[in-house]
Amino acid sequence: MKYISTRGADSASGPEAIVRGLASDGGLFCPSSFPALTPELLDMLGKLPYYKRAAFVLGMFLGGASPRDGFSDGELEGFAEQAYAPFDGGAQRAAPVTELDGQISLLELWHGPTAAFKDMALRMLPFLMTAGARKIGADKRICILTATSGDTGKAALAGFKDVGGTAVFVFYPRDGVSAVQRLQMVTQGGGNVGVCAINGNFDDAQTGVKRIFADRALAEAADGAGWMLSSANSINPGRLLPQVAYYISAYCDMAASGRLKKGAPLDIAVPTGNFGNILAAYYAREMGLPLGRLVCASNKNDVLTVFLRDGVYDRRRELSLTTSPSMDILVSSNFERALYHLSGGDADMIRDLMRRLSDDGIYTVSGGLRSAFAECFTGGSCDDAGAARVIRETWDERDILLDPHTAVAVDVARRNLTGNPMLVVSTASPFKFCEAVLDALAADGPFAAELDENGADARFDPMQRLSALTGLMPPRPLLGLAGRPGRFTDSVDPSDMPSRITL
Ligand SMILES: *Cc1c(COP(=O)(O)O)cnc(C)c1O
Repeated sequence: MKYISTRGADSASGPEAIVRGLASDGGLFCPSSFPALTPELLDMLGKLPYYKRAAFVLGMFLGGASPRDGFSDGELEGFAEQAYAPFDGGAQRAAPVTELDGQISLLELWHGPTAAFKDMALRMLPFLMTAGARKIGADKRICILTATSGDTGKAALAGFKDVGGTAVFVFYPRDGVSAVQRLQMVTQGGGNVGVCAINGNFDDAQTGVKRIFADRALAEAADGAGWMLSSANSINPGRLLPQVAYYISAYCDMAASGRLKKGAPLDIAVPTGNFGNILAAYYAREMGLPLGRLVCASNKNDVLTVFLRDGVYDRRRELSLTTSPSMDILVSSNFERALYHLSGGDADMIRDLMRRLSDDGIYTVSGGLRSAFAECFTGGSCDDAGAARVIRETWDERDILLDPHTAVAVDVARRNLTGNPMLVVSTASPFKFCEAVLDALAADGPFAAELDENGADARFDPMQRLSALTGLMPPRPLLGLAGRPGRFTDSVDPSDMPSRITL
């Protein structure tokens, strides 16, 4: 399989696209075609444990005629088994589907080591990248630059920690992540990692990283020192492809449990920021998985909702900080891939739209492209108050504790039910967002009295408080974070980001 840049002037094999991360023309690598998932293959996958499903799906995209062009089935199975071993359900059951109510199921993707769905791909990426580098004969060490809205950073740090031949640097918006997300990153151990806050928001961090990639002088300096730059953001196809697998896996599980009739359409709702997760669902749909509507759920930063309604992408507004910080994004980088696929690979148009977005902050698409989006995507948004209400009601009525991102998607999903079963992607543990979840539960709910008792006591750790109030245990990797000293405590302006990359 060839990977082609959305901007038309670069292409690469799968391993090369993953090692490089970003195309040389500034575009994103996309598969040149979608492998076909037949009903027979789906039946076969249904009988396998999670890691074998994941390996098979990856093989469809990344297998190669020669070892240089792709990964072998055996390699991928070995990677997946190791990647998903530290999950709660083990490699066998890394992405379980649970029931929310009669119509809605949850795909729980946060049982990995950093308690957010980013682990699903970032556990695999180090294997794909290091093995990929050997395949293409890259003789440089790989320096991975990452902008994070909160969860990618920790998952990238944990995934690449002390992986030979790599270094990883993470930039996060100083005031744009939750307390637990920040603690997870600044306490990161390992000899090949760096973390730095930036005085700005996520879009500033992402733009800063893109600028570093485009900086020839910096690339040459890195090259001279024996390093090449790559990305662990979802612009890297090695992030995107492992995410396709869990939609296929969820479909198999729902068909097996009777939540879904085999072959019948399933609607999917995804809490969306950079458009990576929902794009993976679109890939599964293009492969032939029977998916109906793909519901793109946003918080108050509802640029995508407006686009899907009006065909206008307009980033000319202030980014709002919300209780779902991993979705506080105005420029969704993977949206470029959606434009590419839905326009039939019109690279000239993509270059024009991306130039408009960067110069004018706004672009409008043609009627044809608008209807192509409308054919599979629905948009909707939910503000902080709406998410809090969903968290409180879901806890009161069903004893299920949602994180604010998942709550946004549940709210938007409820307003967009079509009669098909609906699968909402649950992207993080509520214990990563303790303050927001406590606030949601406290608003004249049954916990108000207890909160008042402890609320004045600043020593009472919010994670312990949430655990005491709900009787739920935080995920093991989050325990003990509060007392740990931070290693990385400084912050810089976006223009100084290059100075933090020390090789
Ligand atoms: C990253 C993230 C999202 C958004 O996912 P995208 O792939 O960027 O659209 C949603 N929820 C959580 C918890 C996240 O960490």
